[in-house]
Amino acid sequence: MKAIAIIPGTKQVNLVERPEPKISAPDEIKLRVLRVGICGTDREEVAGGRADAPPGQKELVIGHEMFGQVVEVGSAVRSARAGDFGCFTVRRGCGHCSFCLADRSDLCSSGDYTERGIRRRDGYETEFVLDQEKYFVPVPPELVPLGVLAEPMSVSQKAIDEALRVQEARLGIGDSGSGNAWARGKVALVAGLGPIGLLGAIALALRGAKVLGLDVVDKESLRPKLLGQFGGTYVDGRETQPSALANYFEQIDLIFEATGVARVEFNLLAALGLNGVYVLTGIPGGDRPLQLDGAALMRQLVLRNQAMIGSVNAARKHFEAGIADLAQAQKKWGDAVNQLITHVVPYASFADVLEQHPENEIKAVIEWDKPH
Ligand SMILES: [Zn+2]
Ligand SMILES: [Zn+2]
Repeated sequence: MKAIAIIPGTKQVNLVERPEPKISAPDEIKLRVLRVGICGTDREEVAGGRADAPPGQKELVIGHEMFGQVVEVGSAVRSARAGDFGCFTVRRGCGHCSFCLADRSDLCSSGDYTERGIRRRDGYETEFVLDQEKYFVPVPPELVPLGVLAEPMSVSQKAIDEALRVQEARLGIGDSGSGNAWARGKVALVAGLGPIGLLGAIALALRGAKVLGLDVVDKESLRPKLLGQFGGTYVDGRETQPSALANYFEQIDLIFEATGVARVEFNLLAALGLNGVYVLTGIPGGDRPLQLDGAALMRQLVLRNQAMIGSVNAARKHFEAGIADLAQAQKKWGDAVNQLITHVVPYASFADVLEQHPENEIKAVIEWDKPH
């Protein structure tokens, strides 16, 4: 079978031949890969950045945002059968820290975790993949067009879940433990309207928050238009400084950051209101120093009772919550949600999306097969 492989640390990307995986344990599921989403991590990998081949191997098969269809299951598998749709999660636990032992490898404290398509495990840019049932998350057939968004949506879900739980716990509003009660009616600012930001906007809007979306693109372009369809209000960051946001809108209760630009990440703090929570998902590159008024920043956090949280990766429950939200979003906003997937290319044309980044892109995906 075909696969897209890199040699980590170089700019070599090739279509390679790999043996098709075979079920060899009762808890395994084999999927035919349908689509694999591309994100900044993949582009970093093909540009020679952060990536590790499996032990003893020179090449790494890339791809971590997968969606597929079950072709075969082991004798002990109960949650899937041939023909079903679903995806595999990305991270695999270290097997010895308390978080991984509790199935929360997204919080792994030893650093010995692996990740499919990124860190010491082959990924999903290939025709067939195999893994254990515990890493399989089912996707209902009506969600087939959106299934490839399950992984980026899981990242948005975890960040929002953490922020809402913190608010519920410390402010004593709602007692479901989910934080959803706190979100209703609150003002949430989403910064950066890429896939993570727009999926975050969807999740927040579905929880009853009033969503503002900040980016630096023309308001007539696709991202602000989709934000509007999800009930959000666009703010052009080229015209409105973060510190001025508080004058335009009522108190901002939550900031969901998905820009990955350190300067923006810090400047946004000025927009956060009393008792607010700020959750960051962007991972800034580069090493340019940033000049900050440290005392003012710390003073603000203390005097306004604010919480700041960093969030990366996701647990299985965040995939499940994300798939449930995508289903609800599809019912509520229909085709607007499908428009998040802007580019679909056949696997042989991988260079078109891995080595360039079209300006109007939201989510680009590589297509390996159609549903059977
Ligand atoms: Zn990704
Ligand atoms: Zn661990």
